[in-house]
Amino acid sequence: MTDATITHFTDLIAEHFANVFYFDLGRYLIAAGVASLILLVFRRWAEARRIQTRRASRAGRTREVLSSLRTVFFFGVTTLATLIGVETGVIRFEEDNASWITIALHFVIVVLVHDAYFYWAHRAMHSKTLFRATHLHHHKSRTPTPWTAYSFSTWEAVIEAAFMPLFLLAISLTGYAIAAFAVFLFLWHMIIRNVMAHTGHEIFPAGWVDTPWLDWISTTTHHDLHHSSGHNYGFYFTWWDRWMGTEHPRYKQEFRKNAKPLGWPESWTFKGRPAEQAAVLLSALLAASASAGLWLGVGALAAA
Ligand SMILES: [Zn+2]
Ligand SMILES: [Zn+2]
Repeated sequence: MTDATITHFTDLIAEHFANVFYFDLGRYLIAAGVASLILLVFRRWAEARRIQTRRASRAGRTREVLSSLRTVFFFGVTTLATLIGVETGVIRFEEDNASWITIALHFVIVVLVHDAYFYWAHRAMHSKTLFRATHLHHHKSRTPTPWTAYSFSTWEAVIEAAFMPLFLLAISLTGYAIAAFAVFLFLWHMIIRNVMAHTGHEIFPAGWVDTPWLDWISTTTHHDLHHSSGHNYGFYFTWWDRWMGTEHPRYKQEFRKNAKPLGWPESWTFKGRPAEQAAVLLSALLAASASAGLWLGVGALAAA
């Protein structure tokens, strides 16, 4: 590598780092912040849907947020690697004028491939050899909270974050290209579903698992059971666990116990203690500043 190439790469990193970091941090803070806010503001609605009697401790939440920030860093590094891959021509995105049909199709493909990647990586991390070094940290959260979403050890963060550049590289090598906007939608869908799986309250409406039209989409109880009593390695869908016989034997019964009819949240029931009110304000502020950063990130992605 010549000096000029090295300078070119360091310039690219310097140019994109702040935006990329804001984009990855923003997604986590907005998704987990909004979910926490909903649980606090509509407390009575949420309380009726609480899954475990055990409560997450404050120390647990702090651990979750701190290790999630570490994960954000690794997601930032891989987003940066993707952008540099695009600029050097190793990774290709489809031209800007992709139709909505193409974007929707590409989105579905990325979600399906990621669901398989997650299931098998997750099962591998539960093996005796890998568990301690990779996945034990995530399972310190026996009662998940929205902040558990990115609570990974360094090794797990690397494994989770590696998906996007590896996938895009593999697709580019075959000569195809994915629409950039489909990847953008996928990244949002991923964090939102991740936070929903860890909210600790069954936010899916009663009847979900009794309708074949919906039962293939995993509920909060599905992943909550994974934290409290094993089984259920899947992410977005219940398919892999059913094909591989790893679904929790009482999944549906447990879901029926936790879920309530959709209903509207009963008015404004938020009468939290001062510390909780401060937490709500702080999350709102964080979400607002993260949104601002997010648009910078989107601008950077669009410009790339
Ligand atoms: Zn696990
Ligand atoms: Zn989890």
